[in-house]
Amino acid sequence: MNNAVNASTAGNGGPIVIAGAGYAGLHVALRLTAILRDRPEVELTLVDRHDYHQVITELPRVAGGTRAAGAVRIPLQDMLATRVRFVQTEINGFDLADRRLLTGTGPIGSRWLVLALGSRPNDFAIPGLAQRALSVYSASDAERVWAAVSKALDEAASATDPEQQRRLTTVVVGGGGATGVELAGELAEVLPEVASDHGLAPDRPAVQLVEAGPTILAGSSPQLIDKATRILSDLGVSVRTNAAIAAATEDGLRLKDGQLVEGGVFVWAGGVKAPELVAGSELPTGHNGRVKVDQYLRVLDHPEIYAAGDLASVTDPRTGHVLPPLAQVALEEGESVARNLDAELKGRPLEAFTFHDKGFVVSVGTRRGVADIAGITTGGRLAHLLKDAIEWEYRQSVRHLRGWDPVAR
Ligand SMILES: Cc1cc2nc3c(=O)[nH]c(=O)nc-3n(C[C@H](O)[C@H](O)[C@H](O)COP(=O)(O)OP(=O)(O)OC[C@H]3O[C@@H](n4cnc5c(N)ncnc54)[C@H](O)[C@@H]3O)c2cc1C
Repeated sequence: MNNAVNASTAGNGGPIVIAGAGYAGLHVALRLTAILRDRPEVELTLVDRHDYHQVITELPRVAGGTRAAGAVRIPLQDMLATRVRFVQTEINGFDLADRRLLTGTGPIGSRWLVLALGSRPNDFAIPGLAQRALSVYSASDAERVWAAVSKALDEAASATDPEQQRRLTTVVVGGGGATGVELAGELAEVLPEVASDHGLAPDRPAVQLVEAGPTILAGSSPQLIDKATRILSDLGVSVRTNAAIAAATEDGLRLKDGQLVEGGVFVWAGGVKAPELVAGSELPTGHNGRVKVDQYLRVLDHPEIYAAGDLASVTDPRTGHVLPPLAQVALEEGESVARNLDAELKGRPLEAFTFHDKGFVVSVGTRRGVADIAGITTGGRLAHLLKDAIEWEYRQSVRHLRGWDPVAR
C-alpha cells in the first residue's frame, strides 16, 4: 500500500492525487472511481496518515463513552476499489509548482492535485488552552476525553473533601457550537449512571457549557436555539453565554470578566482552523487559514490544484459568507471536485460549485436533538432519530459507492 507515485508518471490522463481521506477526499476518490470506470488508465491515488476513515460526526458519542472508538474508524481497504492506490504516509509540505505532495515516503507527483486535509482545533491563542484542555477531533482525542472523565470520577470517589469532589466531577466544555452542544449533552446524559458505578451520587457530576458569544448554536434560528437550550437545561447542563475565556490556568478557565470556572476535565470545542502545514505553505489563505478557491473549487492561481472540505474557504455567492466547516459541505464539495475533474479529462467546461443546504441537525444527549430542515424546526426524539438516520445513510452511501468497483462486482 505504500507506493509513492512519481511526478514523471504524470500524463494527460492523470494521475489524480487526493490528499486526505476524510469526508471530502474519500468522497472524491469514491466518486471518481465510479465516474471513471471506463477510463482505467487514469491513475487515482489517495494519501492519508491513517489507513482508516474517521466518522467524525460520531465522536461526541465516543467522548461520552457510548460508542467504541473502533466503531468510528472505517478501514480504507474496506471502502476503496482496487484501482485506487492508497498511500499511508504523513504529508509534510507541498511543491505547488509541480503539484507534488512532499511526504514521509517521498514526493508524490500529480497531474491534478486535490487538497482535502481538513482542519484542527483553533485555540484563538488563548493562553494555556492548548495545554490544559482536551479537544475532540479524532477517535483517539474522543477516547482521551472519556478516559479523563473516568479518571476524574475515580479520583472524586476517593476524595473526602466535598469541594474537591465537586470540582473533580465537573466537566467544562468550551464553545457552544454544534460540537460543544453535542458533547455537553452526551456527557450530561451518561454521567449520572457512570457516577453511580463509581459509588458517587448520581446528581454529583455537573456539565458546564461556556460560550463567548450571546447564544449557543450561533447562526441558527431562535426556535432551534430555544429548543436546544431547553433540552440542555433539562439534562442539567449549565450554559454560560457571553463568557469569553481569557486564559486556562491550573485552577481552571479564567473568564474575561475575572470569574474562574473550575472543573476536573476541560474540553475545547470552540472552533477550527487550517492545518499547520497549510500555514507554512505558499497556498493563498483567508479567514482561519483556510485555502482560497475560485468558483470551481480550484486553488486561486493554481488551476490544477483543487481544495475541498474544511481546508477550503468557499464563499456562498448567495449570502457572501464563507461556508461553515461541516461534513455536509465537505461531501458536496467533494462531489463537485470529482465532477470537475471528469470535465477536465473530457475537455468539458467546469461547473461552478453551489451549496444545497439540506438542513441542520444536532443531537443533544443520547435520546434527543434539534433540527432545522426546510424551514421547519423540531426538537426531541425525532431530531435524534434524524441524526442517527443521517449517519446510517452516510455509512450506506460509502458502501454503495464501493459497489461501483468493476473488480469488486
Ligand atoms: C466532534 C465533531 C462533531 C462534528 N459533527 C458534525 C455534524 O454532526 N455534522 C456536520 O456536518 N459536521 C460535523 N462536524 C464537522 C465535520 O466533521 C468536518 O466538517 C468534516 O470532517 C470535514 O471534512 P474534511 O474532509 O474536510 O476533513 P476530515 O474529515 O477532517 O479529513 C481530513 C483527512 O486528512 C488527513 N490528514 C490531515 N493532515 C494530514 C497530513 N499532514 N498527512 C496525511 N494525512 C492528513 C486526516 O487524517 C483526515 O483523514 C463535526 C466535527 C467535530 C470535530
